[in-house]
Amino acid sequence: MVKKLKIDGEFKKAYPVLEKIWEAGFEAYYVGGSVRDRLLGLEVNDVDIATSAHPYEIKDIFSRTVDVGIEHGTVLVLAEEREYEITTFRTESTYKDFRRPDSVTFVRSLKEDLKRRDFTMNAIAMDEAGLLQDPFDGLKDIENEIIRAVGNPHERFNEDALRMMRAVRFAAQLDFKIEEETMISIKENAHLLEKIAIERIQIEFEKLLTGTWRQKGLEAMLSTNLYQYCPGLAEEKKALEALIEDQKSFEDSESAWAMLVYQISKEDHLNIFKDRKFLVRWKLSNKKIQKIRKLFYGLKNRIRSGMIEPLEIFNLGIEDALKVEGLMNHLGEETKAEELKKIYQNLVIKDPDELAIRGQDLMEISARKAGPWLGDALTYALESVVCGRVINEKQNIIGFLVEHNKIPDKI
Ligand code: ATP
Ligand code: MG
Repeated sequence: MVKKLKIDGEFKKAYPVLEKIWEAGFEAYYVGGSVRDRLLGLEVNDVDIATSAHPYEIKDIFSRTVDVGIEHGTVLVLAEEREYEITTFRTESTYKDFRRPDSVTFVRSLKEDLKRRDFTMNAIAMDEAGLLQDPFDGLKDIENEIIRAVGNPHERFNEDALRMMRAVRFAAQLDFKIEEETMISIKENAHLLEKIAIERIQIEFEKLLTGTWRQKGLEAMLSTNLYQYCPGLAEEKKALEALIEDQKSFEDSESAWAMLVYQISKEDHLNIFKDRKFLVRWKLSNKKIQKIRKLFYGLKNRIRSGMIEPLEIFNLGIEDALKVEGLMNHLGEETKAEELKKIYQNLVIKDPDELAIRGQDLMEISARKAGPWLGDALTYALESVVCGRVINEKQNIIGFLVEHNKIPDKI
């Protein structure tokens, strides 16, 4: 089946880049996710280019390049106001330990390059005329919504076990079915995932969690046992099932992780689950972990109190408070976003800086040095102002703190 596509949008934008490579006497094709997404009618973002030119030849052709993965044959070219990953045709013959190869062999044939790609839908190339080069019938699989390994799935997963995670994440993103032989092979080889760097697994798992058809990806992870080889998930079948029952999509990855953490903590009857440790095992960044934990504890507090507390909104900030409401919706609770926005608007102060008293003031009146008492007093004042127990005015707050024994007596 030959199919021709119109070179438009991002492909048209990239055309001069490919043209330069042709003019230098080499082959260049659009490949990978961009061609797949174009065939699916999805938005195309990154246009990947495959070429017969060697990396050093690409560097000769273009003036602005970055060596992002030259040992794997990839050069980043800055052109046409974009960044393009240009990868030399290659085979990956020397796999060790089921990981990505530590050396690659460059080849001059497109077919050889497409053969080393993971799934048939990702192994389609498009030439300068928009004609598809599709030696593994990827187009047919796209039409039938099937994820099928290129060639022998068992061999392909032994070469690079991450491909199994990619299969389940594509199922979650595209609502495609994993072809039977491919599925059986994932089940047989699931344990090989243990050899893969967590960072690489994390990227795929996160794409799965935020995919529109997350349920499909998670079901595949459960039925193939892939989840057992993911950090901290081996004993968490029930938590994953809860994420399957939940029909809603997550608005961002932090919300997705927060809900996963919540479902795990809910299942943990012995209360030994450490949310931070779990997230660290997944090698998420500290910044991200902080954000996820904020949402997780926000959700726990929201469930415990059963209502929207001004102090909680103040502590979370409006954006995250709304995210927590979104998570409540995932749990089948009515979201009170409108009520929340109103309470936020009516907060006396929205930022700790707006408190009418400073630590310095308290040290002066008490003639005491800073110490734990000071933090306690300021927090007490802040919370009392936010909750409307005291007016945000200096003398008022001092009187209030004295009354509540928060300022030590002068010595
Ligand atoms: P996305 O839309 O998420 O970027 P993608 O298919 O473009 O999806 P990339 O990780 O950007 O995924 O990879 C680009 C292409 O490189 C893929 O379409 C596929 O052809 C090939 N590829 C990526 N990872 C692997 C892998 N582990 N094994 C084999 N081929 C791969
Ligand atoms: Mg891509």
